[in-house]
Amino acid sequence: MLKYTGFRSRKGISMWKLRKKYIDNLYVDLGSHVIVTLAIGVFFYAETRSFSLFMVCVLGGIFIDLDHIYDCVKYHGRGFTLKDFFAGNYYIRGCKLYIPAHSWELVTLLFIAGCLSGRLWLFALPASMGGHLIVDHLVHWKRPYQYFLAFRWKFGFDAFLLDPTFALEREEYLRERREHYNYY
Ligand SMILES: [Zn+2]
Repeated sequence: MLKYTGFRSRKGISMWKLRKKYIDNLYVDLGSHVIVTLAIGVFFYAETRSFSLFMVCVLGGIFIDLDHIYDCVKYHGRGFTLKDFFAGNYYIRGCKLYIPAHSWELVTLLFIAGCLSGRLWLFALPASMGGHLIVDHLVHWKRPYQYFLAFRWKFGFDAFLLDPTFALEREEYLRERREHYNYY
């Protein structure tokens, strides 16, 4: 059972606090991504002496997470703040999980394009994206096919079906909200 402390504030219900646990996980998440990305980037750099390829790995291994912006904009609109973005509450309230770049289909397509064209960046990019997805899989999610776009599509990008943790957090959020307004 999830437990949240310091949930209530005088200003009302703070989704920010609810998501603090999520933020704490973010450090673990980012740290793991940096380590894996560096390992892949250094491998490509050692093989090719190309700093551009190293940067491609950084792009695929770390900046792939910028696709969360898509989910954030879908819920908050274009006027979202950094706090909105990192709080991640758009998954609890918006109930949708798109993360378009977190898709093994995309990784596979890029890899095939690499094989066909022989361009090295088309190997570095899917390798670093794949490394990122494996870390995400180990750190975050419960469903085995979470990072297949087709799987998310099949479930209508429903955040609660795709990740039961979101459903638990939403339940907790609604219960606290009812208590806060004595709405029973
Ligand atoms: Zn990610």
